[in-house]
Amino acid sequence: MALVVQKYGGTSVGSVDRIKAVAERVRRTVEGGDKVVVVVSAMAGETDRLFALARQLGTSPNPRETDVLVSTGEQVSAALLAIRLEALGLCALSLLGAQLRLTTDSNHGRARIKSIDVGRVSEALDAGNVVVAAGYQGVDALGNITTLGRGASDLSAVALAAVLRAHRCEIYTDVEGVFTADPNICPAARKLERISYDEMLELAGLGAKVLQARSVELAKRFKVPLMVRSSFTDAAGTWVGEEDRAMENVLVSGVTLDRDQSKITLTGVEDRPGLAAKIFGPIAEAGIVVDMIIQNASAEGRTDLTFTVSRADLPRALALVKEVAAQIGAAGVRHEDQVAKVSVVGCGMRSHAGVAARMFHALAREGINIEMIATSEIKISSVVNIKYGELAVRVLHEALVSGLNAGPREGDR
Ligand code: ADP
Ligand code: ASP
Ligand code: MG
Repeated sequence: MALVVQKYGGTSVGSVDRIKAVAERVRRTVEGGDKVVVVVSAMAGETDRLFALARQLGTSPNPRETDVLVSTGEQVSAALLAIRLEALGLCALSLLGAQLRLTTDSNHGRARIKSIDVGRVSEALDAGNVVVAAGYQGVDALGNITTLGRGASDLSAVALAAVLRAHRCEIYTDVEGVFTADPNICPAARKLERISYDEMLELAGLGAKVLQARSVELAKRFKVPLMVRSSFTDAAGTWVGEEDRAMENVLVSGVTLDRDQSKITLTGVEDRPGLAAKIFGPIAEAGIVVDMIIQNASAEGRTDLTFTVSRADLPRALALVKEVAAQIGAAGVRHEDQVAKVSVVGCGMRSHAGVAARMFHALAREGINIEMIATSEIKISSVVNIKYGELAVRVLHEALVSGLNAGPREGDR
């Protein structure tokens, strides 16, 4: 008898009919002889609706109260699924974050998991229940409800799979697996049969929201075998696991788009030691993550400094930068609140040169200007005007995935 964690995302539990379909799938798994822990997201659109309600009543709503509010989405879907499972004749028990004793720090809205009490879940499983856990939520040391960040039901599922030493963690969503690009943007994208944790981590961090990045990090750390598949079909999904030989032969395994970026430029900064530290120090202290940075020498010993932050952090970053700019006598501060970052990812890039040049050629052929570039061992990212974001994904997919890889990864469709 295996223990399986199945996570169902918002679309998969988005209506009464979808919840019925999920319950059927759970029932089939139980009848196959497995113990099942289900982790559910809020019904599609519900978390956004709750955030919007909070914003109507307060311009910057209290984070503690916001967590009390937005965590209710998962409470509803967990209860509804448990009710349906009982109606099918199974024993089911819904458990909220506090009941799972999923304890976190007190960073409301982006809390980090500290521990999970396996006892409660194991007891319920041993008593013959299907456990239906509410994703996305936990509880801090004082008993306050916390949430783990957008998309973090994936993280709840992987964390439960890790502490329960589950046989596998299945992530059910509205696409059939991890594709070489978002299939909703790039019709030529194809499903991968397998992908390494490292590649998936890069893809997720660069905008492929099919898995939440922190969940992949945790899966890698605890070697949790992850399967991404559709709750709408029975098609085989994508395995996310350790890297193997065949993967190294693939140059580019995916192209991503992140529309959630903003760009800030400080002009006419004096070119002397210590100024970058002065600029980025307060930003780091405010907990704002700076992504790409470029510095251009300009005339008369002055430089321009451009960097990107996520759009949600733009107002705070801009306020801090304006303060520093005045202190250090910079000529000015400019910003663009919407830019797009397109990236290509693949572990084959470690051992093969030339991908960057092909990427730049492909974008140039379409007349897409590259505003910034960043590289790491297995990825290359370019910032482009947001209106070319989707086009850039298709162009890069055509040039680097369809055109460049020797052939499909062994076993791919
Ligand atoms: P869920 O609500 O099930 O968690 P998400 O909306 O978070 O689902 O993630 C699924 C979506 O991720 C897909 O509908 C797809 O548009 C998007 N996506 C982005 N990049 C990829 C990719 N490389 N492969 C598959 N899906 C992707
Ligand atoms: N409901 C939460 C969100 O929309 C968590 C999740 O779906 O994973 O971000
Ligand atoms: Mg998701």
